[in-house]
Amino acid sequence: MSVTVATPLLSLKGVGPKRGADFEQAGLRTVGDLLARFPIRYEDRSRFREIACLLPGAPATVAGTVVSCGLRLTRRSGFKLFEAVVRDASGTIRAVWLNQPFMTNVVTRGAEIVLYGAVERRDTGPMQLTNPQYELSGRRDQDAIHTGRIVPVYEKTGRATCRVQRTLVHDVLQGLPADAPDLLPSWLREEAEVPDWRTAVAEAHFPPDGTSVELLNAFRTPAQVRLILEEFLLFQVGLALRRRSAAAECKPLVPVVDDRVRAAARAVLPFRLTAGQRQALKEIVDDMARPAPMQRLLQGDVGAGKTLVALLAAVVAMENGLQVALMAPTEILAEQHDLTVRRWLAGGRYQVAMLTGAGAGAHRRRVLDGLASGRVQLVVGTDALVQEAVAFARLGLVVVDEQHRFGVMQRAVLKAKGWNPDLLIMTATPIPRTLALTLYGDLDVSVIRELPPGRTPIRTRALPQARRDEAYALVRREVDEGRQAYIVYPLVEESSKVDVRAAVEMADHLAADVFPAYRLALLHGRLRREEKDRVMRAFAAGDVQILVSTTVIEVGIDVPNATVMVIEHAERFGLAQLHQLRGRVGRGAHPSGCVLLYQEPPGEAGEARLRAMVEIADGFVIAERDLELRGPGDVFGTRQSGMPTLRSGDLVRDREIMERARRFADLALDREPGGSLATEARRSWTDRFGLASVG
Ligand code: ADP
Ligand code: MG
Repeated sequence: MSVTVATPLLSLKGVGPKRGADFEQAGLRTVGDLLARFPIRYEDRSRFREIACLLPGAPATVAGTVVSCGLRLTRRSGFKLFEAVVRDASGTIRAVWLNQPFMTNVVTRGAEIVLYGAVERRDTGPMQLTNPQYELSGRRDQDAIHTGRIVPVYEKTGRATCRVQRTLVHDVLQGLPADAPDLLPSWLREEAEVPDWRTAVAEAHFPPDGTSVELLNAFRTPAQVRLILEEFLLFQVGLALRRRSAAAECKPLVPVVDDRVRAAARAVLPFRLTAGQRQALKEIVDDMARPAPMQRLLQGDVGAGKTLVALLAAVVAMENGLQVALMAPTEILAEQHDLTVRRWLAGGRYQVAMLTGAGAGAHRRRVLDGLASGRVQLVVGTDALVQEAVAFARLGLVVVDEQHRFGVMQRAVLKAKGWNPDLLIMTATPIPRTLALTLYGDLDVSVIRELPPGRTPIRTRALPQARRDEAYALVRREVDEGRQAYIVYPLVEESSKVDVRAAVEMADHLAADVFPAYRLALLHGRLRREEKDRVMRAFAAGDVQILVSTTVIEVGIDVPNATVMVIEHAERFGLAQLHQLRGRVGRGAHPSGCVLLYQEPPGEAGEARLRAMVEIADGFVIAERDLELRGPGDVFGTRQSGMPTLRSGDLVRDREIMERARRFADLALDREPGGSLATEARRSWTDRFGLASVG
């Protein structure tokens, strides 16, 4: 039967409604889906072993003649066992299949058979293979597919066993025409040194004799690479199309950067910029001076000084008569930004305001009027700023702090309001380059890698809870020196009453029994907003010496005098989260420390995370390790976060193929803007990757 990639699996012989539903569940609807999904591994069943030389324990492939066979009932009632004795030139072996009575119709005396399975030694008689894979030779209508070769192993899909799938994939490959269309142009195939599609699917599923099994299981044969590359290419072509259509858009007003603007920026500058800050600022300002709206992601480890860079960009916008919105993920952080902005910018020169959901009444109305009239030049708030009914007169720059997914989604909201501002997204969650290429492939990326001068590295230790006293002693020492401390307490759920009670009890105990001589406060997610603000302000002002907190302090809080952090139950946190938390200290001139208290035993994964925290200071290296330990799905969630659904490729395993795909995508669009890749990306991008459209 002749098939194409578009043929529905349901129309294939051997796929009824039940099996079809199982496949559908696994995301497999068409022949193309089936072929794009790789085996989970490959087994070399190509070398036949002499039966007499078999060793128990190891899997082996043997070939021989069935000398006797039949069904037997075991003593356990109703349990049927089919047994065959197979002989080759060297000896005999027993093969048994449990509860598969239909085998009587499959294996008959005198048949030539190939068996693959783990060899077991029995008390008496010959060695045994239990439930081996088998292949009857001499069936001319079918190539050997289950044994006697390198065999693909598929993950069981619903009720469809590996064997059923192997047969199905094999049948489908037989039905593909030799001249099946190829999405990749031949120049690209040559440059990438990969085979055509027809060859690639055939060899990725049924590797020819002599293929390295090691290479296959690393998914690095040319055939496999070709299929991964194709998937990544389609994805990257889609992103490149987005980038190109964005680059063709025009801002109503393009900022000018002349000496006057530069002088204004210099006037607000409180420090000498680090080299990384300077480079990032240059990239940002260059973008702003272009006609197309900026879409840039600014990555930098916690404390790298992203805020200052953003404020300098804001000065450029304001000096050009444009308004700026600076958005933070929480109100506490918005307030902190508000303070920073006032400290650095509000020397009377710029009109700055803060707008939060909570603020009501006359003040709020005044700010809204100011934004609508253009009098307010910079507004700080949460992302409610652009979502609500806030009107701007000349919104020219939107800075989004710590909200990775903002870019793609809210841009549409902004545009719908008739604005096309420059967009700068900042994140302190270092994202490994490959993931950045994927998640933010339609954004340009600036990275600040170094921290401002004068910081000493945070000394991190992991201690079992039994040594908690040492952690407390460190807190006491630092506070006695005039420094401040965080004690972080994890909650399973920030909103749960039971959990919050545990945190409250912990804080009470610390205040009464451990640190009675110190000023201590508790911060958690269920506190009223004013209460939270009061606590945070008191801590920032130094009135509170020890802040016991849940993870609500996670991002962005900047209290340079805090030099020690103790994290309870550190084994429960993810690596990236631990690193983010730790970044709350080490922000000033004094040396800082972080103690990770863990409950013994921390577990294998927990221990790996703790070790990484102790050994690694660089957030980017931590992020890579996190990705390896957890996989991209867990690190970023799946659909909501903008992770593409992939069939052939794997974002961790195939990082460097993604890099190549990005380069090839641009090349392909330059050479063949109307080529099959571009057409297919436009047609199927949304469907294939489960993401918003390319536009
Ligand atoms: P993040 O990148 O995590 O948002 P911040 O912008 O909060 O970092 O900056 C961290 C701290 O470093 C702040 O206290 C800020 O004032 C300070 N800082 C920023 N840039 C510099 C610099 N070039 N030199 C010295 N200190 C700086
Ligand atoms: Mg910040």
